[in-house]
Amino acid sequence: MKAIHGALVHTGSGFEPDLTVLVEGDRIAGIVRPAEVPADAEVDDWGDAAIIPGTVNAHGHAFQNLFKGFSDDLPFDRWRDDVLYPFSERLDADAIYAGALFAFAEALLAGTTTTVDFFYLHDAGNDNAERVIQAARDIGIRLVLARALYDPDAPTKAPARYREPAREAAERCRSLATSYADDPLIHVQPAPHSLHAASPETIRIALELAEELDSPCHLHLAEASYERAQVEERYGTTPVRLLAREGLLSERLVAIHTVWADDEELDLLAESGAGVVHCPGANAFLGDGMARVPEMLARGIRVALGPDGGCANNRQSVFDEMRSATLIAKARLTDGSAMDAATAFRMGTEGGADLLGLPVGRLEVGAHADLVGLDIHDLSLQPPGLLERHIVHSMQQTAIANVMVGGRVVVRDRHLTTVRNGEIRKRVADVTAGWTRVR
Ligand SMILES: [Zn+2]
Repeated sequence: MKAIHGALVHTGSGFEPDLTVLVEGDRIAGIVRPAEVPADAEVDDWGDAAIIPGTVNAHGHAFQNLFKGFSDDLPFDRWRDDVLYPFSERLDADAIYAGALFAFAEALLAGTTTTVDFFYLHDAGNDNAERVIQAARDIGIRLVLARALYDPDAPTKAPARYREPAREAAERCRSLATSYADDPLIHVQPAPHSLHAASPETIRIALELAEELDSPCHLHLAEASYERAQVEERYGTTPVRLLAREGLLSERLVAIHTVWADDEELDLLAESGAGVVHCPGANAFLGDGMARVPEMLARGIRVALGPDGGCANNRQSVFDEMRSATLIAKARLTDGSAMDAATAFRMGTEGGADLLGLPVGRLEVGAHADLVGLDIHDLSLQPPGLLERHIVHSMQQTAIANVMVGGRVVVRDRHLTTVRNGEIRKRVADVTAGWTRVR
């Protein structure tokens, strides 16, 4: 048993002083006073640390971290058609591994302990997805591999390597999920790409698989206005209404973005129990518009946070998304009380855990031991006594000192313990050598 001691520990209702988190295997076995620590426990004193649950990235595309900077400051259609699609063709399996290692390293250093990789570079198989999983295991991050289903006849300029007949994609997703069913670090969940790349029938197949696997089902939904227009033209109704009409709204659905949804559509989402992943950084970066999160929360819709792909944000920090979520809600509603720090913190921790169906995001007995130790002396966390607000509104990454995932310390004193920075840098430089930025 390990005993992680912190000056402050986040217990859900707030911070309590001088506690020790007991870790047995990959789970939290207790949160106790130092005097109650078993004599044979291996003590790891994190000193003047505030121990909080690791954050949960509920939506991202790790390979896109390799495109960071090449595609900035473009309108959405040029970003997608001139960079995302053609650059996706450049990545072989080693490059996909490098991109995953790169994104996961940045995520861990930013205090993210669970990350979703919504993955679609399949080449009609699972070998590439296996490389992403390998990267997660090597670096030590908890991974939800949201395995995409992308229709062969989707009316986009996307490369052939994204596309598979839905039944084959579902079978590959099932097989990958089965292979990792006993791996506590790896979770495979189905992910029909979007309404522009997956037919209602494909989404139905994915939802049936989610039912069988007892897992969530991820779907990009109403990200940009063009998608709403396209759905209206093709199906004669709006994105959320289409899902409702087809019987595809369910509490298993994890709807990513959901920017272009009117009040009645939010009501439909709320009634169905579907959740939403809010990606404020990416929505702003790409000029998509902005999801109406306070309006969602007021209806009881469950909301999590995602930084999204590395070329659409360009950061891998859920703390950053917490801050963006509050700032943008306040700016959009011209109301400084539109979203408080505690709400944003919940979305980035237990909110993500709930949508993904994982026992993380809270420090409690039985949860995975996914912890972040903040240096309470960091200037970005001063004045003292206001940590819950500072974490969202003023914290800098200099405060993130230690990170544990599943009982394994993967960041110690602001450095990865599992993979050297230099190795990641070299892999990234090798993959991107000779590339030039667009625009
Ligand atoms: Zn996405």
